[in-house]
Amino acid sequence: MVKTVKGLVLREVPYKESSRILTVLTDTDGKMTVSANGAKRRGSKTAAASQLLAYSEMTLSGSRGRWYLNDAATIELFEELRIDICSLALGTYFAEILETVSNEDMPDPEILRLGLNCLYLLSKGRFPPEIIKPVFELRLMCLAGYEPMLEGCSVCGEAEPERPLLDLEGGAVCCASCRSALPGKKAELCADSLKAMRHIVSAQGASAFSFALPAPAMERLMRAAEEYVSECLERRFRSLEYYYDVRIVPES
Ligand SMILES: [Zn+2]
Repeated sequence: MVKTVKGLVLREVPYKESSRILTVLTDTDGKMTVSANGAKRRGSKTAAASQLLAYSEMTLSGSRGRWYLNDAATIELFEELRIDICSLALGTYFAEILETVSNEDMPDPEILRLGLNCLYLLSKGRFPPEIIKPVFELRLMCLAGYEPMLEGCSVCGEAEPERPLLDLEGGAVCCASCRSALPGKKAELCADSLKAMRHIVSAQGASAFSFALPAPAMERLMRAAEEYVSECLERRFRSLEYYYDVRIVPES
């Protein structure tokens, strides 16, 4: 059986001398494992398309669960990501989360589109990583069924909670004085970072990226969003630790 898919490489593992095993997020088949035999050979027609974070039209052969990459035409390689260690680290983190939320045989075009959009904006430097990262994380959690409830304190009902916290287990907000009513881990927010979080979750399309925050509020937003992802998906991401190792903190 031969099929054509559009796919983003989320993971690439060297196999034998010249091959690669790919985890690919596709438009029609969800997550797929694909063998790219000979992809590392000089002049291979699948070399570019089998790189991490390459997006290509792929011709595959095989059958359920066993697919081989026969041919590929690259659509977007996000070249600029590959020459900036900080952007590449963040892109790798995005890929790792996408791999975690995606399933085989369950295509989700919106999740693929969000991933491609964020990689594109990151590669072109259209927005700072501090904005793209929480937008990606929070929008992805909404698409994956973990939309946080940010309207007001989930305990006392206060619309603008004082020194707000995000309850990571329930995805709800509470005031500092109500925190003991909700067991479990929490992330500290503030009025500004909560406002930005509400904007990201409710904004239409690309307007989600249009906001600005003072540096301390931005850091709180970044930490809360990543801790929320980690709690929802019940895992830590090594690529995120690497991102913080290489990250250049913007001057405030
Ligand atoms: Zn309260």
